Amino acid sequence: MAYSVTLIPGDGIGPEVTEATRRVLEATGVVFNWEIVYAGAGVLDKYGTPLPDYVIESIRKNKVALKGPVTTPVGTGFRSVNVALRKGLDLYACVRPCKFYPGVPSTYKDVDIVIIRENTEDLYIGIEFEKGSAEAARLIKLIAETKGDAVRVDSGFSLKMISETASRRIVKFAFEYARTYQRTKVTAIHKANIMKFSDGLFLAVAREVAKEYPDIEFEDRLVDNMTMQLVKRPQQFDVVVAPNIYGDIVSDLCAGLVGGLGVAPGANIGDDMAVFEPTHGSAPKYAGQNKVNPMSMMLSGVMLLHYLGELKTADKLEKAIAEVIAEGKNVTYDLKPDTAAEPPVGTSQVADAVIRKLKELST
Ligand code: NAD
Repeated sequence: MAYSVTLIPGDGIGPEVTEATRRVLEATGVVFNWEIVYAGAGVLDKYGTPLPDYVIESIRKNKVALKGPVTTPVGTGFRSVNVALRKGLDLYACVRPCKFYPGVPSTYKDVDIVIIRENTEDLYIGIEFEKGSAEAARLIKLIAETKGDAVRVDSGFSLKMISETASRRIVKFAFEYARTYQRTKVTAIHKANIMKFSDGLFLAVAREVAKEYPDIEFEDRLVDNMTMQLVKRPQQFDVVVAPNIYGDIVSDLCAGLVGGLGVAPGANIGDDMAVFEPTHGSAPKYAGQNKVNPMSMMLSGVMLLHYLGELKTADKLEKAIAEVIAEGKNVTYDLKPDTAAEPPVGTSQVADAVIRKLKELST
């Protein structure tokens, strides 16, 4: 059986890590019909938008996409392609596993945390009122009338909103994920002591949903305490569910705990479709140099195989990547602390090494 998958190479380092990942996925023996579509600054002139409709239509049709990072153009007035994709397709759950692989230079050796981040609302909803605008003035007036509080007239606004609907489905997603992957604990993070009507609602819903899953331990943490606990004793955490902004920040923190962005995969998942992409961005300063680590994207490919139900192949590809890391020979600069002793290899050489390893594991 062949799988039709939308392939978005992205820009910056995107095309290099995407090509490396396409090659290793094909080397697993699973057959893919790639539908290659382009998004980002490179298509802006041609389509007048960094996210042409045909990209969205392709994902709607194929239900699965593998995506390289895309630069957010600064000063064009366009929203981030990544945010628009997640919102446009209602890919409400961002799943970011942060797992230590032996051989990765890292302070911690036994971390295996999965961050489940709400993707569609909170401060990232994009409803903002500029300082000095008529809308900002109306809002300042409304606040004064309803709350009696004076807001500085030179304020700008970015609205934070959290709904019961989005909170319920993301917390349920986290518990279902824990069950599927035999994980034992879900931790919800929030700042409900301060933001009672947004984070407070998220927490109340999380507590309610947790009662439906008595087989899985539930706890909650204030986000500031959580960041300290993650640095002090990350081993105590398993699945972490978070509103959008805390999830964004904490997932980068957790990527740092296991060795950095080069080994941090991700997926954006909705009810019937999913886009798999690395946690890192387009790192423009390294573009076209065959230098960066493709493993974050390859591990996103492992998640894609899982999603397609190709579980044994997913495990084999993860094992091949893990062994290449553990051997420490064919890895990029970020996984070689002492590059003077042994030079790192390039992006495409990492793919070659993983493909050789896949062949070894098959014999
Ligand atoms: P970035 O992740 O692109 O790069 C930050 C640094 O991390 C790099 O300079 C590099 O040192 C390191 N790094 C990143 N990926 C690596 C890899 N594969 N191997 C080794 N080292 C790696 O973050 P940024 O510089 O803040 O963002 C650059 C652009 O990417 C921005 O336009 C941003 O909006 C965009 N972005 C896109 C996505 C996405 O497409 N999902 C995600 C994050 C950022």
